[in-house]
Amino acid sequence: MDLTPLEDVQAAVLRECLPLTPRAVDLQDALGCVTSAPLEAEELVPPFDNTAMDGFAVRAVDTTDPPVELKVVSTLAAGADPTGVAVGTGEAVRIMTGAPMPPGADAVVMVERTRTEGDVAVIEHHAEPGEHVRRAGDDLKPGDVVVDAGTVLTPAHLGVLASLGYARVPVFPRPRVGVLSTGDELVEGAAELRPGQIRDSNRPTLLALVRQSRFTAVDLGLARDDEATITSAIEHGLATCDALVTSGGVSVGDFDYVKAVLDRLGSMRWWQVAIKPAKPLAFGTVEGKPVFGLPGNPVSSMVSFELFARPALRQMGGHRRTFRRQVEAVVAEPIRRRPDGKLHLARVVATMGDDGRWRVRPVAGQGSHQLAAAAAANALALVPDGDGLAEGTTVKVMVLSDDTPS
Ligand code: AMP
Ligand code: MG
Repeated sequence: MDLTPLEDVQAAVLRECLPLTPRAVDLQDALGCVTSAPLEAEELVPPFDNTAMDGFAVRAVDTTDPPVELKVVSTLAAGADPTGVAVGTGEAVRIMTGAPMPPGADAVVMVERTRTEGDVAVIEHHAEPGEHVRRAGDDLKPGDVVVDAGTVLTPAHLGVLASLGYARVPVFPRPRVGVLSTGDELVEGAAELRPGQIRDSNRPTLLALVRQSRFTAVDLGLARDDEATITSAIEHGLATCDALVTSGGVSVGDFDYVKAVLDRLGSMRWWQVAIKPAKPLAFGTVEGKPVFGLPGNPVSSMVSFELFARPALRQMGGHRRTFRRQVEAVVAEPIRRRPDGKLHLARVVATMGDDGRWRVRPVAGQGSHQLAAAAAANALALVPDGDGLAEGTTVKVMVLSDDTPS
């Protein structure tokens, strides 16, 4: 079977993974979601003129020749209703941060620039009109666009929306992603291993990758290599999820029932991608939902998720930037390989030097079964076909974490 270039497969996958239908979700559930419409302010923020300081609300003209003595006529704490309170000539109101400005006052003198003697405030500062006053609408006015459509919501966005009284926001929902492991050799959790058995490591990895991307992870369990079991697991997944990720059973082995089941249920494509690891990939839609049949080898399934599933699922979640960040890095230690017509995705440790340049070193253990070695890496170097990369050359690198490594 011919090898298909990585970009062609990625493009074909993305074409079939359209954004989910937007809906309103609770503000608390919206972190990291993408807005589907622009959100406008319908209120003033702050809603009224208020003080930025603890001190005295005054008429600025009364303070032109400090020190001056002003009669304290009232006190306003944050949350106080200012109705009936006013500052006349020669008067002041004791006021706390966030409290509304009383009518008549146009400035606040911070408490540190005052003394109190009984009901008299001695003002030792010449206040300018507007000093320490936060004006109504300083931050937002009705009609201001607070968040554009297509924005990835951050904690600050949620706070701004809360300040405007938004309880729900229209977003592309997070895709619900079902994860299924397949293979007769697999054992769940800490159960004793009998001859020939290994533990299921792909499911925990893939579920975590789903969660790390802020999608909703649904554990579909472990299916034996038989058609009926795999069929019912996949059907259950399709009924409860927006997309499925399976691992195992998509290579050319004799017992690859995933292949038979998916072909029967949906319209699948079976690729041999010109990459190493993660050469085999099954992708298609079943009942209109994307299904990713990832290879079984632990490093392959992880790399395949990164290259194909994550970008497609992000697109379903409304993200415009679907791919991981790519940077150019200096090869700090040779990356060895042989020509084989494939792009190699070497597991590397990427660090940023004091000069602001990225450097990469391959981890020891580049086998597709060596998950422990891969776990030490934080990036994939895109090593072109050929004889590898010498120290000092540069390479494109896909950074797997959003945190900048130290
Ligand atoms: P397969 O793609 O089913 O032919 O599996 C390829 C390799 O990956 C075999 O060595 C499997 O034992 C291994 N493998 C498959 N699924 C898993 C899994 N969930 N966890 C760990 N290894 C797996
Ligand atoms: Mg298998």
